[in-house]
Amino acid sequence: MMGLLIGRYQPFHKGHLEVIRSILKEVDDLIIGIGSAQISHTLDNPFTAGERMTMISSALRDEGLAGRCPFIIPIPDLWNNALWVNHVKSLTPRFEVAYTGNPLAQRLFREGGVEVGVPPLFDRVKFSGTEIRRRMLRGDDWESLVPVQTIAVVKGVRGVERIRDISRSEKITFLEPGDASP
Ligand code: NAP
Repeated sequence: MMGLLIGRYQPFHKGHLEVIRSILKEVDDLIIGIGSAQISHTLDNPFTAGERMTMISSALRDEGLAGRCPFIIPIPDLWNNALWVNHVKSLTPRFEVAYTGNPLAQRLFREGGVEVGVPPLFDRVKFSGTEIRRRMLRGDDWESLVPVQTIAVVKGVRGVERIRDISRSEKITFLEPGDASP
């Protein structure tokens, strides 16, 4: 049986890796869908689809899981939720069950007649993309929460500096006339 796991992977962390290991006990092979593929360089989505694909493919290869996750596919968002499941299907090989942590995506798959698997959560307080991006911004330890391959990609693109620059420019964007300089 082929499964599909959709996430944004901003960035790919050790919790995602454990989710993949766990789902691979339920399916023969797993497609990894990179959601919101068109978005990068924002505080919630700092990394490009290509950067996220590199994080995931190198980690899966080094963990010996690449053979069971043969497709890593960027999936741009669509400005029409009712069409999204067919959009996903048009970009991916055939799958029988879709796994996602996003409640809207779960609903859309169910309404589209696709079986939905809810991924298990691993220590969500620590292993959360939001928490990791927060730690990058504040200069706290984030490296211990991600695979070494994610560290290599983030360092290779100076990703922490990118997030800090985005943070400064997003603050400027939201400043009102008369506010103090950031
Ligand atoms: P999300 O709403 O950002 O994530 C929901 C929660 O699920 C987050 O806490 C996330 O944790 C967690 N999560 C993400 N991937 C996970 C995984 N593999 N295993 C366990 N938990 C996971 O959305 P998302 O689930 O990352 O991605 C869904 C994608 O579908 C998004 O890109 C969304 O834009 C797309 N979508 C698009 C449309 C449309 O275009 N019309 C409609 C529905 C959904 P982390 O932050 O730690 O990853």
